[in-house]
Amino acid sequence: MCLSTCRGEQSLTLRAARCARSRSAAALSLSSRATLRNRRSSAKRCEGPFRRRCIQVCSSANEDDLTISSANREDYVNRISKTRRLTRTRIASRPTKVLRQAERLLSARYGTPRLGNKREPISEIVFIILSARTRGTEHEAAYRRLRTRFRTWTEVRDAPLKRVQETIGKAGLSRIKAVQIRRALRQVTRDFGRLSASPLGRLDDSSLEAYLVSLPGVGQKTARCVMLYSLDRRVFPVDTHCMMLFENLGIIDSPLRFEYAQEPLQNLVPLALRYSLHVNAVAHGRETCLPTRPKCDVCPIARLCVNRGR
Ligand code: SF4
Repeated sequence: MCLSTCRGEQSLTLRAARCARSRSAAALSLSSRATLRNRRSSAKRCEGPFRRRCIQVCSSANEDDLTISSANREDYVNRISKTRRLTRTRIASRPTKVLRQAERLLSARYGTPRLGNKREPISEIVFIILSARTRGTEHEAAYRRLRTRFRTWTEVRDAPLKRVQETIGKAGLSRIKAVQIRRALRQVTRDFGRLSASPLGRLDDSSLEAYLVSLPGVGQKTARCVMLYSLDRRVFPVDTHCMMLFENLGIIDSPLRFEYAQEPLQNLVPLALRYSLHVNAVAHGRETCLPTRPKCDVCPIARLCVNRGR
């Protein structure tokens, strides 16, 4: 019987969306708290054959349990595609050529840097949770402190909350991030029987993304960053810098809300360009196209930019 308790709205929403029994509930508005309560009760009623379809639940999960059924995947895809109807921002009809030109110019300038991201998925999840709503490089310092004070992620998972919070220190929202990191580590342990990300490598892209966004503190953009940096998946996370790049290239005429932007903008970027365009867009946003004082006179993509000098 599925008796797991829900940890936060995001986790609950996805669990309900994945659950075969609550498919009709998942099709309803995602923002309504009343609907959320309905899903909570639907999710908790699951038992018997449906248990195997819920990758959140089973602490004794084997590999079969990690496969989301095609019906549940369809729900997830429907939920994502619904976001496309929620935007009025116009998207240029044939952006591939300008994206290729921009990628070539940006990679020549910035050299496709790693930006401090980690190869190991658990480390990357922690690193990205730390980087949320943090300016500058404070999150990198917080990550180094965590690695210095705790020898393994298991020690972080089992440490008192206050100790983790103190270690994160000035990275901002330290208590929330400490809670999210410990919960994410515990959830991975519960789902896979150990604190290891190796089972993630066996999931297909949509199942992997669905699993990652079910972790506390991990949204769709974060999930795609983990997939891109640590699991070599060809996805394109849209962050502030990427959004700015798309706007400056005239591909969108105004910024989209991030939760609505991920899917439509990713679909515009050819698979082979996704990693390079993402990391070079971030480097460009940090070094040259600064939000308040863009350095247009030294910009490598100035001739492609529709906002030059504004
Ligand atoms: S020309 Fe200026 S505004 Fe346009 S991308 Fe370059 S730095 Fe940003």
